[in-house]
Amino acid sequence: MSTKSRGAAPVTLAVANQKGGVAKTTSVASIGAALAELGHRVLLVDLDPQACLTFSLGIDPEDLEISVHHVLTKGVDATEVIIETEDGVDVLPATIELARAEADLLTRTGREHVIKGALEQLAEELGDTEEGPYDWVLLDCPPSLGVLTVAALTAADGVLVPLQCETLSHRGVGQLLDTVHDVRRFTNRGLELWGVLPTLYDGRTNHARTVLETISETYDLEVVEPPIPKTIKFAEAPAAGRSILATSRSSKGATAYREVAGNLVERASRPKAAKKKPATRK
Ligand code: ADP
Ligand code: MG
Repeated sequence: MSTKSRGAAPVTLAVANQKGGVAKTTSVASIGAALAELGHRVLLVDLDPQACLTFSLGIDPEDLEISVHHVLTKGVDATEVIIETEDGVDVLPATIELARAEADLLTRTGREHVIKGALEQLAEELGDTEEGPYDWVLLDCPPSLGVLTVAALTAADGVLVPLQCETLSHRGVGQLLDTVHDVRRFTNRGLELWGVLPTLYDGRTNHARTVLETISETYDLEVVEPPIPKTIKFAEAPAAGRSILATSRSSKGATAYREVAGNLVERASRPKAAKKKPATRK
């Protein structure tokens, strides 16, 4: 049964960490599929020129004539670019052309607002349709703190930070939080840190748990539960063009992402005042 509330503005969540390989893209694809299973209308936005999200949803970026790059830099309507996928989510796909967007946008006034503007226009257009606007928009950020990540944070209600607990770097988290802090000051006062999502988690080692606790305490960050276990199943999913929720329905990883999605739905419905205070910088 659907748990969504119709007609409200979408919840826009940026999944960000400037470190590559921490499961940003996997988390976006899996949480998106899990939200769709719950009956939510979901849009995933690929903001990485490597286009791994696009590819993992069974779309070959090389076959695309228009992509998110055209929406952000050429004013093309997002509805012309969005593709429906077998995972029950829609995607605003990327191609390697997006690598140029950083440079193209650098000299543009209002560049921080390009994603926000495009999503607002989209919500307005879809508001007039029978299906209505999306319930969730998940932004798959590139592995940098450049223009696209800042624009994603500017468009977002919340930011979720996937962290690989094994190779965790404190300095990286600090830099990301500094960026979040700047975005709050200059472009998006309402941005909330939804917390860290432990990924590639090896629960057999105490090390992972210790690192996670240290990070959460040092930066006063909430931890979104449950941790996503490290499993080989994830390596197989992208090649199949489907998320792990479809390729290994009842695997531990799929179950964990379903639980995370449920917790995010709960998080989204919390009244603002009850949400945790913004993290202070240390
Ligand atoms: P990012 O977007 O942060 O660069 P990806 O989502 O592309 O990270 O994941 C990096 C690699 O790790 C991919 O090969 C992916 O299949 C793999 N991976 C992601 N999550 C898991 C997991 N829970 N267990 C094992 N491998 C994983
Ligand atoms: Mg990625």
